[in-house]
Amino acid sequence: MNDLVRRFIRYAGIDTGSDPSGTDAPSTTGQTVLLKLLSEELKEMGVRDVRLDPRGILYATVPGGTGGTTIGLLAHVDTSPAVSGAGVRPRLHSDWDGSPLEIAPGLFLDPSECPELGRWKGGTIITSDGSTLLGADDKAGVAIIMEAVRWMMENPEVPRPRVAVAFTPDEEIGRGMDNFDVKAFGADLAYTVDGEQPGSVDSATFNACRADWRIRGVEVHPGSALGRLVNPVRIAGELLAMMKPEEMPENSGGDQGFEYPMEISGNSTEARVGVILRDFSDSGLAAREERMRSMERLLALKHPRAEITLDITRQYSNPAEILKSDGRLVEYAMRGAAMAGLEPRESSIRGGTDGSRLSFMGVPTVNLPTGGGFFHSRREWLAVEGMEKAFESLVNTLRVWGGDSGGRGCLDNPKSL
Ligand SMILES: [Zn+2]
Repeated sequence: MNDLVRRFIRYAGIDTGSDPSGTDAPSTTGQTVLLKLLSEELKEMGVRDVRLDPRGILYATVPGGTGGTTIGLLAHVDTSPAVSGAGVRPRLHSDWDGSPLEIAPGLFLDPSECPELGRWKGGTIITSDGSTLLGADDKAGVAIIMEAVRWMMENPEVPRPRVAVAFTPDEEIGRGMDNFDVKAFGADLAYTVDGEQPGSVDSATFNACRADWRIRGVEVHPGSALGRLVNPVRIAGELLAMMKPEEMPENSGGDQGFEYPMEISGNSTEARVGVILRDFSDSGLAAREERMRSMERLLALKHPRAEITLDITRQYSNPAEILKSDGRLVEYAMRGAAMAGLEPRESSIRGGTDGSRLSFMGVPTVNLPTGGGFFHSRREWLAVEGMEKAFESLVNTLRVWGGDSGGRGCLDNPKSL
């Protein structure tokens, strides 16, 4: 087992699940445990200027580096609250023969459901024991950045740019950038290491809104309801029936957006429906918002005695246009991947990252892969060789930024892993 894998496993053992009901920053104490460990490890490597903000953001500057541009590297320490991350026991499936992996009795990781997995046949796949998530999202990203920092410290002669590092909490609950201090970070351009398959360079995310519906009816005893009752539960049902099945996420892929009713609650007094809207283009998202508004008007006409309100709030925006302002961010990452022997491709995330918000805060940020898949689930997986390729691509990208465009892979240096 190499240092990169050992490092990942060490971090995976710390429960850092974030909690949307938590009012502190970070939302859970486990995240601080990991942040403190990272802080100590960075200091042991000789990194100066390690600063752990009381709100749970770890900033550091890697000494050395040249050129006028400071490159930031970011990953988030929390894991999704959707599945428990307590007591993660990583299992290594070495010399994987490509057949479905039984993670736990009856729980299979099947490459026919996940073609990206098949790419790592013959290698080592890491999963949990099936009772928790694995936490490759984003502890694989944290481990890759930490090993890249170590590599920079141990290979000071290799040309590279100035590098700033940040580890953030609560990304999975949408608060990763809430307390982020762009000045303290000190980067001009940045990479998050929070993606999936090696070779991909994510330069677009969705534009995202949520639509919160509240329907208040007129409550009357059902025995004397004739002509008087206005039932919010039934109106909520009508609202769902008005939504187009072909626009739902289960029927959308590629560059299509979607409308996803994902929360519903209600009783005889009031019903609430939460819908998320996603689209890569601004005009596409605006059209989805308008569809919600027209449903609101229709329902109000049909049920004049109900009180129907619709609040639409922006969640994050696609930074694609901002990222075009400095083409090197994508181009150098593609070159770094090619130097690692991969076929690089520019891709879009059907979701968002901290980088989309950071781009709008003045630091254009592109997302790089970790080597994992099936995030936020008990079948989450990480390919050891994928993580190594992601590490190698990242280090090569830094070399390109330092002016080294040679074709040598960095792993010809045994010190690097
Ligand atoms: Zn993530």
